[in-house]
This record gives sequence, structure tokens and C-alpha cells, in this order.
Amino acid sequence: MESSQYDIAIIGGGILGLSTAMQLAARAPQWRVAVLEKEEALATHQTGHNSGVMHSGIYYRPGSHKAKFCVAGLNNLVQFCNDNEIEYQQCGKVIVATDESEFGRLQDLYERGTANGVPDLEIVGQERLKEIEPYVKGVKALWAPHTGIVDFTKVAAAYAEKFQQAGGDIFTGAPVRKIVRSTGSVALETPKGTLQAKHIINCAGLYADKVAVMTGEKVGVRIIPFRGEYYTLRPESHYLVNGLIYPVPDPRFPFLGVHYTRNIHGHVEAGPNAVMALRREGYRKRDFDLGETLGSLTYPGFWKMAMKFWKIGMGEVYRSYSKRVFLRDLQRLLPEIKDSDLAGGGAGVRAQAVANDGSLLDDFSIIEGKDSIHVLNAPSPGATSSFAIGEHIAGLAVNNFGASS
Ligand SMILES: Cc1cc2nc3c(=O)[nH]c(=O)nc-3n(C[C@H](O)[C@H](O)[C@H](O)COP(=O)(O)OP(=O)(O)OC[C@H]3O[C@@H](n4cnc5c(N)ncnc54)[C@H](O)[C@@H]3O)c2cc1C
Repeated sequence: MESSQYDIAIIGGGILGLSTAMQLAARAPQWRVAVLEKEEALATHQTGHNSGVMHSGIYYRPGSHKAKFCVAGLNNLVQFCNDNEIEYQQCGKVIVATDESEFGRLQDLYERGTANGVPDLEIVGQERLKEIEPYVKGVKALWAPHTGIVDFTKVAAAYAEKFQQAGGDIFTGAPVRKIVRSTGSVALETPKGTLQAKHIINCAGLYADKVAVMTGEKVGVRIIPFRGEYYTLRPESHYLVNGLIYPVPDPRFPFLGVHYTRNIHGHVEAGPNAVMALRREGYRKRDFDLGETLGSLTYPGFWKMAMKFWKIGMGEVYRSYSKRVFLRDLQRLLPEIKDSDLAGGGAGVRAQAVANDGSLLDDFSIIEGKDSIHVLNAPSPGATSSFAIGEHIAGLAVNNFGASS
């Protein structure tokens, strides 16, 4: 890597960095582009620890980046999977109202999804719900037949392969520790050597705020890590779930509520919850990093967020430690599920950007610096939207950096 000179360095080899790299190679083949990933393998963080759901675009505010990129991204993703023989299934999803108090919110979701251009949404009654998911207890449901499942690490690997086939370079085991600017160039220092580039695209996920600060950008947000823990259903209880079963989400909170997912490998998972992690890549309850925890606790936005969400937050922590409470919430959707059906599962950590005023950024946030672009908030449905987000960032790069590369 020593003294290598590139037009663009992309920091982060998750699904967004790799999609952007692939799209840049297609849009601007004259540019030399490199991806720098700190781990020895690609896509090992959010991309490798998620629910694997190809969302259809129901939840998001019409006109938002999430709405636009998710709806377009799902179509792009299906096409990409077909072209590259990546297994996926559009098994459909139900969002279930368990009592009348949720009807208004269910109707709102139907209207939002329809406004966003999600096709074939339908509000169904008990009888149809029983045909789709025989063991679910609900009064009404929103049926989204095109929602699907896929292994996003496979999608990311295919993006990487296309990028490399087009002449792009990927350096793994290369954490960017320092960024030094000089006229017309930036030096990205890693333990494997220094890479020179004219421009930077920051797709560093859980460390996107830190990388942005390294480039000299003032970002006004801090990434607060929220762990999502799953249980796995034992194989003998898989019959309880056909596809994807979700609750009506709490509108005050940006997460979707614990749900059931039959994933593409045939496992059925229940989760994820949302508890603040004490380490950015803290996948286990006991994971703790003093510097990173202090980083969260000394951020004024953290305390404003804590004031707003303390009650929901305490509930999530309680549920994280109490299988009984987790089970009780799961039984609202599937009354037949029992303690013995649930085995311990994995976890993922969400990179949630929190603003100085304590608000959780709801939409994707992609900001443009002088010679850089930063993805500061890309929670779910970021993986579904990856093709569309990569296309968008590649377009920004061509517009913003075109003259100087
Ligand atoms: C629990 C959970 C469930 C989810 N479920 C879904 C779902 O069902 N459907 C969906 O569409 N989305 C889902 N998401 C969201 C989705 O996973 C993310 O939007 C997406 O993976 C973001 O991709 P990324 O490339 O930005 O981040 P990441 O995959 O985290 O990649 C960032 C990369 O940057 C690297 N990096 C960080 N710092 C540096 C540095 N200094 N130098 C070099 N490299 C660095 C990291 O090692 C990492 O590989 C879920 C997320 C979680 C956590």
C-alpha cells in the first residue's frame, strides 16, 4: 500500500462502502478507487449482524431518503440477486394489530406505504391473516407480499467482486487511524502503510462520526451504539412462523419492535430488542470499553436523549435481562410460543446517530464536505437500500469531485 495514489479512498468495507465502490467503478472507470477495511474480512459488523430482511418501504416518511432509497433499493436488489444468482425469497410480511387501539397506526402505515409507492399492500382481517400465518393472534394486519429475505453478506461480497473485476483495490486489515491533509491530497495512515487519495468517502458505520472528525469535518452528531439481541426458535417450533411477523411499531421510537424472521438459511429468529451498548462493537452484554462509554456519557446529546427515552430504555434493558419479559412480548403475536422454544441467538449493534439536541436521527444522513462525503446515519433499511444509496453517493462524487480528479 505504501505511497499508493488513488482518486478516491472509501473507508469501510460494509455493504454501503462496497456498493458505492462498485457503482463508482461503473460510473467513473477512469478513477482509481480503493476500499480500506479495518477487519481482516469484509462486512463483519452491521452488514453481517442484521435481520436479513429486504424491506419494502412502508414505515418511512414520504419524500424521505429512507422512503426513496428503500423502495428503489428493493427493486435494484432483487434485480442484482437475479443477475448474480444470490438466493433470496419474497416471502411477504405481516404487521399485526393485536387490539383495536392499533388500528389507527396500522391504517397510517398502509397510507404511508402506498404514498411511498409500495405495491400490493393490503389490510387483511383475521381470516386472511390465519391463511398467511396460522399461529398469529391478531385482529387485523397489514400484508406486504413483496418484503423478502436475503443474506446481506453475500450481497456485499458480490458488490466487492464486481468492484475488483472492474480494477478496484480492497485493503483489509487496514484500519484508518489518522488522516493528514496537504494541498490537493489526503494521506490515510493505517498499520499496513499510508494511502494517498484526492477524496474520501466515509462509510465507516459504527465509527462514521470518528472518521468524519479525523477528516476535519464538524458533524454535530455522535454515533450511539444500540445492541439488538435475538433468540433463535428451536427447529421443532419453526412451524409456528411462515415468513415475517412484525408488531405495529411504537411511533416514538425509531426501531421496529421485536419480530419473528424466518431467514434465508431456514432459521427462525425472534428479536431484536434495542439496548444501549457499552462498546461500539459490543455484541455481548459484558462487552465494555471505558473510552467509548465515556464518549457517549460526556456527549450532551446523550443526556437529552436519555431524558426523552429513559422509560422505554429501562424497559428494553429489563427485557434484555429477563427472558420471561421477552417471551411475554413475543407471545402477544404468537401465544403458543413457550420458553422452551427459545434458544439463545446472536446480536447486532446499530450505529444510531444522535444529534446535539438529543434527537435520534430518523432518516439516512449523507453529508458533503469539501473533498469528502460522509454517511453519518444508515440504520435499517440501509442494507435493503444499499444499491440505491451507493448509486446516490457515486452520483454525488461524480458531481462534486469531477473537476478535480
Ligand atoms: C440488529 C440489526 C438489524 C438490522 N436489520 C436490517 C434488516 O433486516 N434489513 C435492512 O435493510 N437493514 C437492517 N439493518 C441495517 C443494516 O445492517 C445497515 O444499514 C447496513 O449494514 C449499514 O452498512 P454500512 O456499510 O454502513 O455499515 P457496516 O456494515 O457496519 O460497515 C462499516 C465498516 O466500516 C469499517 N470501519 C469502521 N471504522 C473504520 C476505520 N477507521 N478504518 C477502516 N474501516 C473501518 C467496519 O469495520 C465495518 O466493516 C440492521 C442493523 C442491525 C444492527
